[in-house]
Amino acid sequence: MKQLSILGSTGSIGTQTLDIVRRSKGKFSVVSLSAGKNVKLMEAQAREFKPVVVSMADEAAANELKLRLADTNIKVKSGNDGVTEVSTLPQADMVVGAIVGIAGLLPILCAIAEGKDIALANKETLVTAGDIVMAASREAGVKILPVDSEHSAIFQCLQGQSIPKRIILTASGGPFFGKQKDELKKVKKEDALKHPNWTMGSKVTIDSATLMNKGLEVIEASHLFGITADEVTVCVHRQSIIHSMVEFYDGAILAQLGSADMRTPISVALNYPQRSSISGSKLDIFDMQNLTFDKPDIETFSALALAYRAIKEGGTMPAAMNGANEEAVAKFLNDKCGFLDISEYVQRAMDNHKKKDNPNLQDILEADLEAREFVRRL
Ligand code: NDP
Repeated sequence: MKQLSILGSTGSIGTQTLDIVRRSKGKFSVVSLSAGKNVKLMEAQAREFKPVVVSMADEAAANELKLRLADTNIKVKSGNDGVTEVSTLPQADMVVGAIVGIAGLLPILCAIAEGKDIALANKETLVTAGDIVMAASREAGVKILPVDSEHSAIFQCLQGQSIPKRIILTASGGPFFGKQKDELKKVKKEDALKHPNWTMGSKVTIDSATLMNKGLEVIEASHLFGITADEVTVCVHRQSIIHSMVEFYDGAILAQLGSADMRTPISVALNYPQRSSISGSKLDIFDMQNLTFDKPDIETFSALALAYRAIKEGGTMPAAMNGANEEAVAKFLNDKCGFLDISEYVQRAMDNHKKKDNPNLQDILEADLEAREFVRRL
């Protein structure tokens, strides 16, 4: 039985991971869980999966959870110490990184240092500190198994293959594909939260609407697969059937296809190198009609160009970009700025940032904070 620690268990990826555990017929068990502040769901998960320890980032939420779980012997922790305990529990074989944002970075680094394999959904970990995380995983001899559907697709296409010539990262294009800037001035968060193909947490859904999500994924891919950003081509594929492709030097292109169900890439990571059956609707190839491929409109969706700029400039710039984006998305979700302001604020934060090369973790966390503070003031 593989023992799992799940970071971000109350979110979209976290709950789908638990769904796989629930149906795994004893193949997986859960030894620790962490979340932000959703006490009710965490209580239900703790009672169902009986972990050794659970942790809430929010102190008040942890206090409430302690009272609710008083009749059990499950340990309830909070804050940084709590999430560190969850991510480093000796019994755990694998840690699922499904916290949203840079908040997921330190627990993943702690888990790597303790020799845990990582099933990684949290893309911000690699965007902000990819060099440090990949070096730490090599040193500790642990696997980083991608959960993001595109990276899982690439990972699957690369099994047993030699060096790729380029990666073709597919993008759904989000809810505003084909729209011009003028049409995006007044869009509301309710419109931006309507993703055409995937049901996900609110931050990644807004990132999909601005195309920042694809930008973050370009950076994530470059770290995971050791390629440059110029070797990653983004292509809009509205149907979200091909989850990404890899081109080789002999001209062959391999693709991975499937329905838009995150439980497939989660299952690939949890079961690697085996595969396991999962329930749910599967792709019927006879239902596939026209598969379309378009170039992204980076004039309108400038966030994608900002991500290419960030990785080319390197150093602390991706961390500054990510911090600015997290803050700008939060502003948009709180009705404090417009949709187009998100990319505008990120660009201004990047223009303002004095990048440091070869950053250590402290430099990265400082770049994140500085960019957030800059956007908060706008
Ligand atoms: P959700 O918003 O649905 O869930 C986020 C999880 O993180 C929740 O459990 C939340 O807890 C917890 N959390 C939030 N803030 C903190 C914090 N400061 N400290 C600790 N825990 C915190 O996000 P998703 O599941 O959609 O996404 C998670 C990650 O996976 C993101 O990085 C995203 O980009 C990536 N991803 C997601 C995909 C998807 O289909 N959803 C696809 C590919 C990648 P609570 O709710 O209790 O406050």
